[in-house]
Amino acid sequence: MSLPEELPKTYDFAAVEKRWLAEWNDTDFYFDTHSKKPQYIIDTPPPYPTGKLHIGHALNWVYMDIIARYKRMTGFNVMFPQGWDCHGLPTEVKVEETHNITKNDVSREEFRRMCRELTVENIEKMRQSLRTMGFSVDWSNEYITMEPYYYAKTQLSFLRMLKDGYIYQDEHPVNYCTRCETAIAFAEVSYYEGTTLLNFFDFDGLEIATTRPELLAACVAVAVHPDDDRYKEIVGKILRVPIFGHEVTIIADDAVDMNFGSGAVMICTFGDKTDVFWWKKHHLPLRKALSTKGTMTAICGKYEGMTTKDCRAAILADMKALGILKNQKQIDQRVGGCWRCKTPIEILSERQWFVRVKGDEIVKAARDIKWYPEHMLQRLENWAEQMEWDWCISRQRLFATPIPVWFCDKCGEMILPDEADLPIDPTIDKPKHACPKCGGTSFTGETDVLDTWMDSSITDLHVTGWNGSGMPPFFPAQIRPQGHDIIRTWAFYTILRSMALLGEKPWDGILINGMVLGEDGFKMSKSRGNVIGPEDVMGPYGVDALRQWAAAGSSTGQDIQFNWNDVIAASRFQTKMWNIVRFSLMQINKESPVPETNAPSTLLDRWMLANLSHTIAEVTDAMENYLFDKGLKLIRDFAWNVLADEYLELVKGRLYSTEPDRAGAVYTLRTTMDALCTMLSPYIPFFAQECYHHLSGGKRIIDHPWVDFSYTDADAVRDGDLIVRIVGVLRKYKHDAGLALNSPLGEITIYTPSHNVDDAGDLGRTVNGTVVWKAEEPALEKKVGDVVFNKGIVGKTLRGKAGAFMAAVNALSDADKITPPATILVDGEETAVPEGAWTTSFVYSVSGEAVDVIMVDDIMITIQKN
Ligand SMILES: [Zn+2]
Ligand SMILES: [Zn+2]
Repeated sequence: MSLPEELPKTYDFAAVEKRWLAEWNDTDFYFDTHSKKPQYIIDTPPPYPTGKLHIGHALNWVYMDIIARYKRMTGFNVMFPQGWDCHGLPTEVKVEETHNITKNDVSREEFRRMCRELTVENIEKMRQSLRTMGFSVDWSNEYITMEPYYYAKTQLSFLRMLKDGYIYQDEHPVNYCTRCETAIAFAEVSYYEGTTLLNFFDFDGLEIATTRPELLAACVAVAVHPDDDRYKEIVGKILRVPIFGHEVTIIADDAVDMNFGSGAVMICTFGDKTDVFWWKKHHLPLRKALSTKGTMTAICGKYEGMTTKDCRAAILADMKALGILKNQKQIDQRVGGCWRCKTPIEILSERQWFVRVKGDEIVKAARDIKWYPEHMLQRLENWAEQMEWDWCISRQRLFATPIPVWFCDKCGEMILPDEADLPIDPTIDKPKHACPKCGGTSFTGETDVLDTWMDSSITDLHVTGWNGSGMPPFFPAQIRPQGHDIIRTWAFYTILRSMALLGEKPWDGILINGMVLGEDGFKMSKSRGNVIGPEDVMGPYGVDALRQWAAAGSSTGQDIQFNWNDVIAASRFQTKMWNIVRFSLMQINKESPVPETNAPSTLLDRWMLANLSHTIAEVTDAMENYLFDKGLKLIRDFAWNVLADEYLELVKGRLYSTEPDRAGAVYTLRTTMDALCTMLSPYIPFFAQECYHHLSGGKRIIDHPWVDFSYTDADAVRDGDLIVRIVGVLRKYKHDAGLALNSPLGEITIYTPSHNVDDAGDLGRTVNGTVVWKAEEPALEKKVGDVVFNKGIVGKTLRGKAGAFMAAVNALSDADKITPPATILVDGEETAVPEGAWTTSFVYSVSGEAVDVIMVDDIMITIQKN
């Protein structure tokens, strides 16, 4: 046991963090596959290995770490795995930038090697950050999606879903980024506001307005509204496309907006989603004017090879020269861009792989999952409702899980690998058998790779032990923590995959965290200069202050605006707690031996323990419902107000004394401090461990179960609360009387007619007076005291007679002083008494001794000054 002298005056967070990081072992946090305890598996989000943890990660991981630590303390076998979602564009783009190449400049293998290399470095950096922040990650359950053991599972899941008809290939229009040269899913399109030119031109005698003149070569029809009187007569007519000369038909469709432009629109393959809708509905031909590189194709004639931008300018110039460009108008436009590079999305029809989206099945499963907070379910439902196309899962990139498929060169038959041979790369590996259809032995591997979400949508299957044979041993996971920004991707796809592969929901619950906004209330971004990193907070204030900030910042699911005041408040709370611990230790160490089991009989100790018990119940309830901000606020209020400002103030005198009741206060203090350390440990593990180490004589808080303490005592709560209030009014009384707070107060009598109160002298010591509790009605004499004149009124109304008036009033009977008559005799003259001329004070006395009286509700307190 450390002696109190050893506890430094100020809390040195840097030294404490370093010490306990070195003391804790990875094995302390391992999931035990043989445990008899109930399991609690957290399907944690695998971050993208950028090499840097941002403040949003910190928020997310603090939530998860609080859950993991709390659940361990409440008897669960917890798995808090750490994954890394490696594949994808950002790494490819970074590699291209770093080496100043494009993916086509080096071999496929070399490019993938460069991506792997960068990813390995980045993961190591982020691992270190997670460790520094004290997250109790289960490193025995780390997974890296680019490693063969993981992407073999991604491939297995692909093959299973392919065989079950969930996955198919098709030529279908998809969202396409021509800069990244890959298809992307709808969920990856981010929208922003822009402006564009609406061009009115003469289309073979019909005025048409378009924002995409460069797609003129891809025009396959002109559409008008069936009710549009201007065009009723010409539906079915053939028009010749300007500049290009091919013929298209005028069709009628009620999806045409009569009020947009001229009311007649050209349908191109494809300008936007509506073009795809019309193209399908009216079985129109396909004319591809754009290549996957974003340049014009051969059907564009002399414009072939131009970029869309150059082609647009060239066609508009040619229209002008031909005299068919009638008008141009600037309009606002909502542009869909690539989530990675912001390049405007094109819609191209290419052969792609798709996952069938069964929206109803996903929504049904989602409703069977408990959502924290509940209203977030709506977001998933809305997304499922508006899904028009299936999920495009093929990407024309390199650093990703290969699609494990070959095609027979002779007959085109699709050849699949044996599951036992996974993982495979079909561009390197060869099928082990001849083509079952034609006996051919020459094959071409699929070069498309899988969308990264195909990897990350089976994290739950991976951590619960899925290997393709039956139900995974630990399925389902208990909770999925994630941001609300990826409900329509990660949550949606995970449910989809779990339903497709196992037919069951992936988790019991899903916990949604908000985004961290800058101090200015805007999304953090380099260009705004409002980015704050976890290191900016940890440096000056320590990990625990960062953790408190995250936990207390906002209710679960809500965005948090970063605020330095919250960090400072967190740091101040630790200073306050440290002082409480130092004080408590000194008191506890004076008691020898430390009382262990004697439940205290003293009123304020019982009051304190009842309050503690109530707080524990409330904090536990908040933890069970993932209301981290509520839990922490309850603990902080309790420690700061009830413990420090009220209880310690009230029992300080007893602790400094040698009274026998001192032991009760020590016991109460000890019990309270143990409970506080325990409840704080999921939030601020370093601080809690440091305090508990000193308080317990070297024990570890992580070995401590959650607080199991319950005590009710309604009488003690009632009387203790009364004492707290009485201290407040007596302090105000001293203040109003111009007395120092510690000046003696004489004899205080408190009348509680309904019951006896015994405060063991605590109140008297606190207010520096003799306190007598009397279980009886006050025996009080009340007399009229001095009359206090309102000089303003008296002087103004009575002028020269004021002096005589006041003398006459002082001579009145007590009854008249209390209830003034209408007139009184002043110098022999009936004089009207002005309204509010005086007030009468009263003098109280007990057994002939004068006292002051204060009421606290219906409780009377008399003070007899010395
Ligand atoms: Zn892009
Ligand atoms: Zn064949």
